[in-house]
This record gives sequence, C-alpha cells and structure tokens, in this order.
Amino acid sequence: METQLLAWFAEHGRDLPWRRTRDPYAILVSEVMLQQTQVERVVPRYLAWLARWPTFEALAAASPADVIREWQGLGYNRRAINLHRAARHVAAHGWPEDLTELPGVGPYTAAAVGAFAFRRPVLPVDTNVRRVLDRTGATFGPRCAQALFDLGATVCLARIPRCGSCPLADACPSRGLRYEPARKQSRFEGSFRQRRALALRLVAERPRARRELDAEAVVALERDGLVEAADGLVRLPR
Ligand code: SF4
Repeated sequence: METQLLAWFAEHGRDLPWRRTRDPYAILVSEVMLQQTQVERVVPRYLAWLARWPTFEALAAASPADVIREWQGLGYNRRAINLHRAARHVAAHGWPEDLTELPGVGPYTAAAVGAFAFRRPVLPVDTNVRRVLDRTGATFGPRCAQALFDLGATVCLARIPRCGSCPLADACPSRGLRYEPARKQSRFEGSFRQRRALALRLVAERPRARRELDAEAVVALERDGLVEAADGLVRLPR
C-alpha cells in the first residue's frame, strides 16, 4: 500500500510550512501548536511565532509574559508555558536524547520531532494515522508519516470516509464502512476552560486586582504558572 499512498501524496499532499524545514525547534513549535488546534488556524500563528522567535535561543530569552500574550487565541495556554520551558531546557542543556524529557512533550510529539527533525526511523501515530492503520490493517514505514496525516485528515475521515477517492481502497478491508459519530470535544461555551481563558485575557491586557477576576480561574492559572499573584494583584509571570 505504501506505493499507492506515496503516489497519492505526491499529487494531493498539503503544502504546510513546517514540512519545509528540518529545524527541530520549528518542528517542535508546529507540533505543540497542532496538539489541540486545527491546521488552518495554526499556519499563520506558526509563521508569526517563528518570525518573532526564529530560534529556541530567542524563545528562551523571551519573558513568559510575552510568550503567553503571543499564544493568546490558540487555546490550551499551558502549551505556551511548556514550550517556553522546553526552549530554556534546550538552551541550557541541548536537545535530550529522550525528547519526552522536555516539558509538554509526550510520546507522540517526541516521535514526530524525532522523525521529522532528527530523521529517526519511527512512524509518529496520531489520531488520523491510527485510524488509517486500524482500517487498512496495513503497516507503513516512517517515510509515509506525512502522507498518512493527510489521508486521515482529508480522505479517511472519522465518520464517513471518502473511500471513492482513496488510493488504498482496492486493498482496504474497511472500504465503504460508516462509523458512529466520534465523541464531540466538550463545549467551550460556559465551560471552566472558557472562564480560565477570559481571566487570562484580562490579565494579559494589564495586571488586575484579584477581586475583579474569577477566583477559581485565577487559582487554576496560578497552578499552571500562567499568572502570578502578589499583594492582591494578578499579573503575567515576569
Ligand atoms: S478505503 Fe476508505 S476506510 Fe479504507 S483507508 Fe481508504 S478511506 Fe479509509
């Protein structure tokens, strides 16, 4: 199946900016952003991030407050703090052999950075790749990673796969099957996540009196290192 997949990818693969680099820092930025944000939203934010902080040394030298402000709107703000800590770790100690030693880097992100930046012979398996592997029952080598991402994101969709346009259809045992709706991501509106995001946005504008803010949200933000509080005032970390 690899041959058909790679031929399809050569024609239909998405042109994404992080596919044009092998810089581990740039790839880590893209992978962390992509963890919980859609590709279309990530592209402009990734480009802006690298324009502002083109190297991990530059990011390591930035203040946490600037990093949190730059991240605003991407959601799951803890990622920003972890990325900043990872940059500081790399600036101080170099890239660890085991990339999961970096804050915010789990096994998937480590595999992706290892494969795309350091050319390690591993296939990073995210949700999209897992779906294609499960449905086809096939095995694919590391060089198929980007093709599998794109097939899973654009053809082998979670609920109603587009088997009619799939390069693997001839040999796929799941061809033509339909699937139950996947569990929806919990609603943002009215959620605690929204309350946290609002409190952080207010503090990112300027330091605020603690009593002006959602008390529970501030406690959670403090715990994650996204804000600090002293003398009744809440501000971004300095
Ligand atoms: S034939 Fe259908 S189920 Fe099989 S890999 Fe292609 S899109 Fe997915």
